[in-house]
Amino acid sequence: MDQARFYQQNLEGLHLILGPMFSGKTTKLLEYVHQAQENVISFKPAIDIRYDQGMICSHDGLKREAVVVSSGHELYKKAKNQQMIAIDEVQFFDDSIIEIVEKLIHEKRTIVVSGLDKDYLHNPFSVVEQLKERATKIIQLEALCALCGDQATHTYRKENNEKAGQILVGGAETYEARCRLCYAKG
Ligand code: ADP
Ligand code: MG
Ligand code: ZN
Repeated sequence: MDQARFYQQNLEGLHLILGPMFSGKTTKLLEYVHQAQENVISFKPAIDIRYDQGMICSHDGLKREAVVVSSGHELYKKAKNQQMIAIDEVQFFDDSIIEIVEKLIHEKRTIVVSGLDKDYLHNPFSVVEQLKERATKIIQLEALCALCGDQATHTYRKENNEKAGQILVGGAETYEARCRLCYAKG
């Protein structure tokens, strides 16, 4: 299938990949990127430097080069005329990402975005809520509960670092996935 038809048939608009930590969001995002092969650019927010500055990394060790940006406007400039725009960890962007995504949708580009839908208190991330309203397709993923192995929808923060607030960048040392019941146990 040629590239133009591939995009038209499968991928127009905003694809949103959501779920708790360890649910495979980044893995899914990288699937889209690999499928597209060409005319694709990947971004991640400057705040997320957990593993590697210039790479998108999954917890399983998959990697892909990414452009690190600190705002929606910087992202738009660097996206140039690429057809597919992939964004990981979108919850770390401020509201400026919304109008940029709208602009990209209007330009009939393919935007594939992954992010946490809920923070460690299970409150929604505002940016993600706003993106949901604009999505062509929402892929809701689940992890496995670290305590009982059930399907996990919640992200539990292990060290209770109250000063950190909603955003505390961390991996398996800081967070685990839990089902609703195990999350409630605290
Ligand atoms: P996300 O981007 O949603 O955090 P990743 O795509 O980076 O997720 O990684 C998902 C992978 O993390 C799984 O394939 C699995 O191997 C690993 N993993 C580690 N802990 C868990 C867990 N509790 N539940 C599910 N997967 C887990
Ligand atoms: Mg991830
Ligand atoms: Zn559980």
